[in-house]
Amino acid sequence: MTTQAIDKDALRRKYLEERNKRLRPDGNAQYLEVKGAFAHYLKDPYTPVTVREPRTDHVTFAFIGGGFGGLATAARLVEAGVSDVRIIEKGGDFGGTWYWNRYPGAQCDTASMVYMPLLEETGHRPSEKYAHAPEILAHCQRIGKHFGLYEHALFHTQVTSLIWDEAASRWHVRTDRGDAFTAQYIGLGTGPLHIPKLPGIPGIESFKGHAFHTSRWDYGYTGGNPMGAPLHKLADKRVGIIGTGATAVQCVPHLARAAGSLFVFQRTPSSIDVRNNAPIDPEWFASIATPGWQQRWLENFTANQAGGNAEVDLVQDGWTDLSRRIREQIGQLPPESRTVPRMLAAYEDADFLKMEEIRARVDQVVTDTDTAAHLKAWYRQLCKRPCFHDDYLQAFNRPNVQLVDTNGKGVEHITPTGVVVAGKDYPLDCLIYASGFEVGTPLARRTGFDPIGRGGRALSEYWAQGMRSKHGMHVHGFPNAFFVQPTQGANLISNVPHNLTEAARTIAILVKHARSHGFKQIEVTEDAEQQWVQLLLNSPGRMTNSPDCTPGYYNNEGQDPGPAAKSYVGYPAGAFAYFKYLDAWRESGAFEGIAFS
Ligand code: NDP
Repeated sequence: MTTQAIDKDALRRKYLEERNKRLRPDGNAQYLEVKGAFAHYLKDPYTPVTVREPRTDHVTFAFIGGGFGGLATAARLVEAGVSDVRIIEKGGDFGGTWYWNRYPGAQCDTASMVYMPLLEETGHRPSEKYAHAPEILAHCQRIGKHFGLYEHALFHTQVTSLIWDEAASRWHVRTDRGDAFTAQYIGLGTGPLHIPKLPGIPGIESFKGHAFHTSRWDYGYTGGNPMGAPLHKLADKRVGIIGTGATAVQCVPHLARAAGSLFVFQRTPSSIDVRNNAPIDPEWFASIATPGWQQRWLENFTANQAGGNAEVDLVQDGWTDLSRRIREQIGQLPPESRTVPRMLAAYEDADFLKMEEIRARVDQVVTDTDTAAHLKAWYRQLCKRPCFHDDYLQAFNRPNVQLVDTNGKGVEHITPTGVVVAGKDYPLDCLIYASGFEVGTPLARRTGFDPIGRGGRALSEYWAQGMRSKHGMHVHGFPNAFFVQPTQGANLISNVPHNLTEAARTIAILVKHARSHGFKQIEVTEDAEQQWVQLLLNSPGRMTNSPDCTPGYYNNEGQDPGPAAKSYVGYPAGAFAYFKYLDAWRESGAFEGIAFS
């Protein structure tokens, strides 16, 4: 297909119409915080909590969060000679996202070869192009064991306060398990999507059947296991699932195979592109896994995906395909007419073509034409998390599966016995919430603490007008604290772990430098932070996260996110350029903008 065959104005009108249908005045406030009568939804179903004595000692480095960020940072610190790195984690083991999300079918969306950190260091060969969750969780545990991180870790522990002690050049850390210890350095890697949220549907508290959130999957009720064993206890059950985002797309096929009846309550369809998963051939892997292989793959993925100029595409997935298409459209423009508006138009063309393909695929796969029509996504591909699956659409061809489309309005009511949509009652035994995670809520509400830096200043106060940092990692007034996350750094969303592993490398080098020179404090200067923020804010706007998109957590549910949101950006020249810049910044040894004292 070519863009000539597309009525672009009609599509733009359709996108707008579908978006407007979904806009609601309550925005983020439509969701329920999981507490009070719902607090049991947060309980860890996987690991019993063990009793332990509170810690009142001192460690060199305390890292909050035992996901990829904490694991990678701790691993690099151990390599740099720091032997007492304490990871504090609210789950019962390492893994972060992969600890909690054990729903059937959970799988990484970015190719394992670049998604799973420290593969080379731990000698692991991923079993599949897109590994399933149990393998990723096991890999997290492998990193923990390989680098000896279990010895100092505190699980089932949530930090409640972090206070900088200027006189002692250390942080005071307190937790909900009574710990009160100190750390010379802290790392924060609490992740963006870890507090489950519930849809604020009237009557939700009245449901008397069985209910749980996808991030706390109840295998005791459903039968089966995270490895994909059939959910055999659902054979005589009427099961409902609310939500059709990336999580639902992965677990619906499993529910469809097992449940007596499955009702998928949809507000907005996801775009479902081809997955094409495949096992990784050990011989092929051995042939490419020569020293430095993972770094080469990471750089190649980022070069293809985010602003580099790679000649080959090693990873070849949905992300690099998307970027290739955009480049090809732009490449068709004569060089002299590559103005910003024309390049944006070429990008839109590539998107129209891709989404037409994705919509055509629904018709090819789904036999019932009405169901197929309702499964089509009417927005630009990056307005919501793009999904890739080869069994999701197919599930709707089963006689026991019914799509209940709510025409953008969402579920109307929940009653003690089921769900009501458009006045029709759907009696259910079990209701599963695939309703996502808190994103737009205040950071301190999500982390459970508000770091207090130099002079008693709270981070929430320092960032009240917007995030301020250098590299997204160093914040003036918060010495010896490192923020491990993508924003104000590479902001590479297609492969989040790459942001984290680069931060890990940087932190280890800085800490090693400070230790070998006898410095007690590491802090970005006010000027350097200001210059970095200016560099980011003066860059032209990004093409994604548009307010024109259909509402979702990517665009603050379609509402004005306020002035602070303009600071949630990445390096203007893109992720590839950022990683090159960061590498040079680190390797120079001058660490420009950082003061050691
Ligand atoms: P999402 O926030 O993406 O999806 C929540 C779903 O709940 C949406 O479909 C939403 O509809 C729906 N919903 C909310 N309220 C209602 C209501 N009142 N009635 C009906 N439906 C409702 O959460 P997910 O857990 O699916 O995914 C979160 C993120 O986690 C993803 O975006 C992705 O970043 C990550 N993820 C990554 C995976 C991977 O890499 N393999 C796999 C799974 C998740 P609407 O769209 O209309 O708001």
